[in-house]
This record gives sequence, C-alpha cells and structure tokens, in this order.
Amino acid sequence: MLYYSTNHKAPVATLEKAVVKGLAEDRGLYMPENIKPLPKEFIDNMEKYSFQEIAYTVAEAFFGEDIEAEALKKIVYDTLAFDCPIVPVEENIYSLELFHGPTLAFKDVGARFMARLLQYFIKGKGASGKEQDSTVNVLVATSGDTGSAVANGFLGVDGIHVYVLYPKGKVSDIQESQFTTLGKNITAIEVDGVFDDCQALVKNAFMDEQLNKHMRLTSANSINVARFLPQAFYYFNAYARLKESNPAAAANLVMCVPSGNFGNICAALFGHAMGLPVKRFIAANNANDIFYNYLQTGVYNPQPTRQTLANAMDVGDPSNFARILDLYGGSHERITSLISGATYSDDDIKHTMQSCHQLTGYVLDPHGACGYQALKEGLKPGETGIFCETAHPAKFKEKVDSILGIDVEIPERLAAFMRGTKQSVAMSKQFDDFKQFLLAR
Ligand SMILES: *Cc1c(COP(=O)(O)O)cnc(C)c1O
Repeated sequence: MLYYSTNHKAPVATLEKAVVKGLAEDRGLYMPENIKPLPKEFIDNMEKYSFQEIAYTVAEAFFGEDIEAEALKKIVYDTLAFDCPIVPVEENIYSLELFHGPTLAFKDVGARFMARLLQYFIKGKGASGKEQDSTVNVLVATSGDTGSAVANGFLGVDGIHVYVLYPKGKVSDIQESQFTTLGKNITAIEVDGVFDDCQALVKNAFMDEQLNKHMRLTSANSINVARFLPQAFYYFNAYARLKESNPAAAANLVMCVPSGNFGNICAALFGHAMGLPVKRFIAANNANDIFYNYLQTGVYNPQPTRQTLANAMDVGDPSNFARILDLYGGSHERITSLISGATYSDDDIKHTMQSCHQLTGYVLDPHGACGYQALKEGLKPGETGIFCETAHPAKFKEKVDSILGIDVEIPERLAAFMRGTKQSVAMSKQFDDFKQFLLAR
C-alpha cells in the first residue's frame, strides 16, 4: 500500500518510508491510498473473535500488503499483551479502559506497535554503505505521557536507541520515573527549559545535515502512521465486546473520544470507514476548543495552547485535523453529520469527576471525565455510549485525590517505576550542546 501526503505536494511513499520518515517532505501527514472495507462476514460476527484476532484482521487490511503474515501476526500479538475492556459505568454508558498497558495510557498500543514495525524494517539492513552506525535513533520530545509510552514501547528493541527530551521540573514525579529509570536503550535528557524548547531541539536535530550524516535519526511522534492506525484495534474490540454482552445496545452505538491531537479519534474514524458499525462519534475537548469551534462554524482557527487539568489534551493546533479533513474530502457537512463536539473547563471536569464518583463509584481521570460528560449530555434516547478512559487515574493521582477526597491506589507496575533509580543527562536548551552530545555518541 502506498501513502500520500495530506498536502498533496510530496511523492507517495511506501509504508517503510512513511514509518521511518513520519512526516512527508511537504510537511503533510501520510494517509493510506485506500481504506479496505472489512468483509461483511467479519463485521457481522465480530463478537465471536478475540481481541487479538480482531486486531490482526484490522492490521492485515492496513499493513498486509507490506508485511508477511506471520511477522505481522507476531507484531500484533506482542503489542496487545494486555486487555482493553469495556466496563459499565451506569445505564447506557461504558468506559473503554485503555490504561492496562505498561505505562497505563492508551499511547502504549501505538508506541509498541511502532517500535515493532520499525524493528521489522531496519532488521538486517546494515549500514547501507555509508559511514553510519546502523542503529536507528529515535528522538522524542515530551511533556509527560508520550515519553513514557514511547520509551516503554521501544525498551529492549534491538537496533533502536531512544532519546527522550523532557522539560526539567515540568513533568510529575510519576511521569518522570517512567522514562528515566529504564536504562538499556533509553536515554532520558532533562532539558533546562520548557516543552517547546525540547521540541525545538528535536526539530533542529532532524534538519542538521552534519548530525544526519553521523547517525540515523527518526521521530516517534503521534502523527506517525504506525502509531495512530493501530489505535483502530480497540474500537473494533469494544464494539465486539458490547455486542457479545448486549447486542441491542451495539446496534445504536455512540463512541466518544477525549481528544487532544486527534490521533485516537482519527483511528476510530478509519475504523468506521472500514465498516465498524458505530452510529456517530463525539470528540470531547477540554478548554482547547478549536475542533469544537470548527464544527460550529466551519472555520479552523488554531489557537495558543491553554493549560488545563487534562494536560495530555492541551493542544491548540491538532495535527490530525488534516487527516480528518482529508478523510471526508474537506466537507464540513460530512464531518458534522458523523462527529459532534463538546468542550469543558477545568471546573466542569472537577464537577464531572465528583458527580460520577458520587453517583456510580467510578473514578474518572480528568481526560476520561470529558468523554463521560459528553455522553451524559449528548446521548439520545435509545443510544448506548462508550467513552475512552485514556489514562489510569493514578497517573494523575495528586489531582484526582484532591478533587475526589480519596486515596487512589497506585498499581504495582507504576509503583515499580517509582522505586527505580533516576538516570538522566542534564542539557541546556542551546541546540549546539545537544548536537555535540549526539555527535559524541
Ligand atoms: C494523548 C492523550 C489524549 C489525547 O489523544 P489524542 O490522540 O492526542 O487526541 C487523551 N488522554 C490522554 C491521557 C493522553 O495521553
């Protein structure tokens, strides 16, 4: 399968190029040339298949032309070594818990899948005749969550070294422990600056000729096709599990996705294009209401990012908007007929967490809270809603404890990270320091 750029000014790319490069030459995002509808027999009988079987069928449609069946199966089964269950919260509302992976966030699925796919492509390729080490170096700037998912996804993967750049003093202790205690092929770099400085260092590194001659560099950010497409797996599985337990509900399903950079909901929309029987979608935002405003007005007007309680969704110019627009031929009408929006302030998020906890006993994290509330307000009679719970509440323990007046239990795998020893390299925000550091590697 070939991949084209959403800006339509770059040559089409193979899957390998799309995965290794991430972004097209014209700064557009890669899109698969066609989206294969899944067989009716599969769609109609999905409840009979396991999560891994469903995921493999979906993966086959995207990647089957480019990866041998056995290898792809291994990548899929290795990625989904944990469950993504749907949990009933109250009548007609289910939580799709995407936080049972190694770092307790949904990004684990895409990060792990991408690591395995990259490994598949670089295996046995050697130094390609140039004076280069064949190791692929992944650079990732993080404000918290992405770094931990990528670091853990790539941990121990041969032939790949990961550099995680994060702003000193700006990530929580729990988040920091998830990428600074790993060792092996993961190097954490503590930048004396803010997140934007980290991102600038990474961007400059990709553009630096001398550095690119010295080492193979790639990114692992969320616009990579290998990171976002696998997120379609759990939407198919959620539908299948709902149909298994409650067939009538599955016939009238609304899927609600707390969104920031819109990669997750974009994968769900690809699923819909392949035949996933979801009636409609809701994109739930925090106070960063750019998409919500687009739905109301038809005008996409990016804004400076606003800091909120649901900080993994603090995005003022969501990258994957370009993919959504492309998927529907730029038609505002087609988009609004399938997707509606919601936007919540920090106060709304707090009240939602409190009322849900009081009413149902379910502990929401601030991101999932946006999704739950959008269903509470948006479900019509006869509809059943599933919202994504994108992070375990323990990842935001301080906030959740103080909002709900409880003591959220820290799962053992998170506690294990916190017992580890922090190892990181101190770095200034000057590009030349970072460059010299990499050149010396
Ligand atoms: C990344 C993230 C989101 C937003 O997902 P997008 O794909 O960027 O829309 C929501 N919640 C959590 C916890 C996240 O880490």
